[in-house]
Amino acid sequence: MDVENIFHMKGGHDETSYSRNSSLQKKASDMVKHITLEAIQEVYMRTTPEILAMADLGCSSGLNSLSMIKDLYQAVEDAYRTTLINGPKSSTMKTQAKLSSVSVYLNDLPTNDFNSIFRALPEFFDEEKRGHLRPSLFVAASPGSFYDPIFPPNFLHFIYSSYSLHWLSKIPAGIYDENGKSMNKGCIYICERSPQTIIRAYAQQFREDFSRFLRLRSQELTPGGSMVLVFLGREGLDHIDRGNSFLWELLARSFTILISKGEIEEEKLNSYDVHFYAPSQEEIEEEVGKEGSFKLVHLEKFQIEREKGNNGISYGVAVASTVRAIQESMISHHFGQHILNSLFDTYAHLVDEEMSKQEIRPITCLLVLNKI
Ligand code: SAH
Repeated sequence: MDVENIFHMKGGHDETSYSRNSSLQKKASDMVKHITLEAIQEVYMRTTPEILAMADLGCSSGLNSLSMIKDLYQAVEDAYRTTLINGPKSSTMKTQAKLSSVSVYLNDLPTNDFNSIFRALPEFFDEEKRGHLRPSLFVAASPGSFYDPIFPPNFLHFIYSSYSLHWLSKIPAGIYDENGKSMNKGCIYICERSPQTIIRAYAQQFREDFSRFLRLRSQELTPGGSMVLVFLGREGLDHIDRGNSFLWELLARSFTILISKGEIEEEKLNSYDVHFYAPSQEEIEEEVGKEGSFKLVHLEKFQIEREKGNNGISYGVAVASTVRAIQESMISHHFGQHILNSLFDTYAHLVDEEMSKQEIRPITCLLVLNKI
């Protein structure tokens, strides 16, 4: 499957859109926002550029990106004001810094609904009283895969990416046999029944993709630049846990229920796999070390606190709406759009049922990486 041309979050603002179903991601990014803001302030203090350039990789079509940009801009402005008050002598600068502008580049795959973000810009700027902003703020889009070059060399000071890097560049080639058939039958990600070849193929794809990502970004960052990356991971060395892999397992079980009802054919499930990987802390550290362009200054693993009320809807329904907004493009391409309602109703039910037995705890990793 040509994931880069098919995969996209559900655009627009309707009930099933990403913009209306991404509060879990926002909540999680907000939990570690203080670390992100501190990182960009340190970058500003180290580099004191006249134009500070930053990028949000995998910005999607929701408003999560603009909300974070607003906070990042504010943090840079605060750091700049501090240097103005303290003067050049008290910092590492030789002369007084002058920050004229902050440039923000929004990146996602070309299939992303960038227009939804652009349409929200007038309101965003109005709120921020654009004409009076000092430093000025500019927003542009840079479509393309983050597994390819996106920016010129030494161009960016800061890179942010949230809930995007667990997406691989493709479904690992190693999961297919010599006839091109998936060897991960009945599963859509690494599951208990997956043979070792499947695990090896996914882990290898992650290593290739992540080190390529690090190499490309180190070329695009200026000396003194940093990245903050937030993405899904796993707690221990075992791939099978009650976290992200279990959520995929429940989606696979939902497909199986639809097969038993005659709504989809078994062969369709056998040939469906996701281009996702939840790495462990050890795998991340190893790849950063091997690639060699970055110093990992901070790595944190955390869980999203579960909302108690959830606006009157169950946790299962909230998770199902989130996963639907993310997976709808791939699932409808492979199985057809007609199964979506039935599939995600079943999934919501399974998530609730499992939650009543034992908690499901998806892990998120936050990394702060300084260019060496
Ligand atoms: N950062 C937003 C959106 C996360 S959704 C938030 O926190 O809410 C993940 C996004 O990553 C999607 O929009 C998806 O299209 C994008 N993405 C996945 N793989 C990508 C790639 N190779 N290059 C660029 N964007 C990618």
